[in-house]
Amino acid sequence: MRPYSINYFPWERGREQMLTGKHVVFLGGDARQLEVIKSCIQMNARVSLIGYDNLQSPFSGASLKELSTEVLSKADVLVLPIVGTDEHGHVSSVFTSDTLILTEEHLSSLPAHCIVFAGIAKPYLKDLCARYGIELIELMQRDDVAIYNSIPTVEGALMMAIQNTDITLHGSICLVLGMGRCGLSLARVLHAIGADVRVGVRSSAHHARAFEMGFKAFDTRELNQHVKEADLIFNTIPAPIITAQTLRHCPHDVVIIDLASKPGGVDYAFAEKRGIKAILAPSLPGIVAPKTAGRILARTITQLLKPMELQKEGNV
Ligand code: NAP
Repeated sequence: MRPYSINYFPWERGREQMLTGKHVVFLGGDARQLEVIKSCIQMNARVSLIGYDNLQSPFSGASLKELSTEVLSKADVLVLPIVGTDEHGHVSSVFTSDTLILTEEHLSSLPAHCIVFAGIAKPYLKDLCARYGIELIELMQRDDVAIYNSIPTVEGALMMAIQNTDITLHGSICLVLGMGRCGLSLARVLHAIGADVRVGVRSSAHHARAFEMGFKAFDTRELNQHVKEADLIFNTIPAPIITAQTLRHCPHDVVIIDLASKPGGVDYAFAEKRGIKAILAPSLPGIVAPKTAGRILARTITQLLKPMELQKEGNV
């Protein structure tokens, strides 16, 4: 069985007709959306694409549309890019040179039952959805998506580490800061390839888990003592954890890969001043494995739409 093949997960079997009669509108996006579009077409949804006019291989089974209240007023599902909108409603699309702005008028034209999907939502989108009673699902806030997403994130982190060091990861001293969804996956993979993994945590439960998994653990409050020996530091803590004070204790040739969302957890100005290589590495799943990242989203969106269908059919 091929991992991530379209019917890999049991719940995906026999779902092909699941979205019959549903109108799914995609507004903007990147390569990850292509997998979601493909899934919706396979599930027999009516698919409209806004901001996809430069798509190299257009989908048969989907129609290109302009952004208008008319199209949105007939949407059952609206799928936005991972970043949703910016603070002014701007929606990004790598498949068009047009500017796409989701205005209040657009949002208010959605039917009350329409569900809006985005990876994360800025207050602009949250407020508009709340004002018009539209359900908004932020996919990246979900534990399952974050855990699945940690797989391409870890592969991307390894890629960054290999590209930016002249030593093997095997035998290197790797600090992993944070033991959440990404940190745990990363520590496990580094450990498996023979790195000396030391995890920086703040809770006793994470200390215990690290011990159980065979990693050394230390309290992040004692980080300055532990960076002294590090070859690599991977940060997953979304807070200013690698401060100027910490950087003063780091070896000059340490490589810091910062996975935490912008602005990251490193004092970059000070790192540059000390000549320490510190790299903020956002959006790795979309860079190293857009297809897999897209399939994770497709699977989650179609799973979430399933109860909607069952309700319609009177099965719940
Ligand atoms: P997570 O599950 O919430 O894990 C975050 C970890 O940081 C937790 O272990 C948490 O500890 C710890 N932490 C938070 N604040 C801390 C502090 N002040 N001191 C010490 N520890 C602290 O998050 P995640 O899903 O692993 O994601 C981690 C970060 O990576 C996020 O910013 C996320 O947006 C980003 N991310 C980036 C990529 C990429 O491609 N670069 C991909 C996925 C995610 P407790 O459990 O004790 O609270």
